Amino acid sequence: MVNQIFPNIFEIKIPLPHSPLGHLNSYLIRSKGRNLLIDTGLNFSQSYKSLVKGLSEAEVKPEQLHEILLTHFHVDHVGLIPRIKAASKEARLLIHSTEFTLSKIIVEDEYYLRGIADFLGSNGAPSSIATKLHRFHPAFFTPQAYVELAGSATPVADGQEISIGDYSFQVLWTPGHSPGHICLYEPTMKILFSGDHLLPSITSHVSQYIEDMDPLNDYLASLTKIEKLDVDEVLPAHENKFSHYRERITQLREHHKHRLIEIKNHLKTESLTAYSLASRIPWDVNYGSWEEFPPFQKYLALGETLAHLKVLEQRCSVKRAKTKGLTLFTCTPG
Ligand SMILES: [Zn+2]
Repeated sequence: MVNQIFPNIFEIKIPLPHSPLGHLNSYLIRSKGRNLLIDTGLNFSQSYKSLVKGLSEAEVKPEQLHEILLTHFHVDHVGLIPRIKAASKEARLLIHSTEFTLSKIIVEDEYYLRGIADFLGSNGAPSSIATKLHRFHPAFFTPQAYVELAGSATPVADGQEISIGDYSFQVLWTPGHSPGHICLYEPTMKILFSGDHLLPSITSHVSQYIEDMDPLNDYLASLTKIEKLDVDEVLPAHENKFSHYRERITQLREHHKHRLIEIKNHLKTESLTAYSLASRIPWDVNYGSWEEFPPFQKYLALGETLAHLKVLEQRCSVKRAKTKGLTLFTCTPG
């Protein structure tokens, strides 16, 4: 289904089979000389058919796509790249350089996965989760998309301008949900393509899965970075477009503030691993108990918990200690 939101800006809803997210919003920016697509969808025939149908309603053929901008390298955003590239061989893939480097490491470095498994294991994750990461991590199982990316990636940088037709977009680097996540801002029309950085009701997943990263601090800084923009319409990658921009930013900040307090309170009386802590947090999901969570949900919950612990540790609100290979967190006095 295609929806022309602004002149020559189309929203195409691509179904995401088997995903609770339901659909991905792919956006087409059409002009006489160039057509740009923002994000793609999972690699399913049904999804590709929806994309082609949406494009044709906007009178654009897949072979007329000149550029595909990837807000980040997660499977629901990059999955259809091989099919699009088969139709439009010359299409350039625009992605932030950090995200490109990360995708390269994920696909090429056999030790990277091992490092994640060891990190999660030291934080209490059972091996049933740590050894199945290739099924869980949103950036994995996309080798075909990576092959295309490796061949035709055009890295974009924070602040870079992309002009198409009457529009001039600014690239905004917004790390947090993914280290090289980007948004696109059009200051004249006051439109923000927010990717997964800002969704109208879902809280973006912010997860730590290796020691050397601080995604929640990054995410909160990215919220502050975009807050000053003058935005009338947010075009997110999931759910529907919305206009309560600053209110949504405030809600997200409050959500994380509340969760930080909640985690700290759990550590006031005992030392816990991040995994035990994750099992005690009331997550907003449709399962009766932690035991009923599928392994993927447990993986997400652990990553979120670790991201919050990292912030608390930096604020000297919690400290860590290693015992028999396990990291235990405790609340600091005061
Ligand atoms: Zn997504």
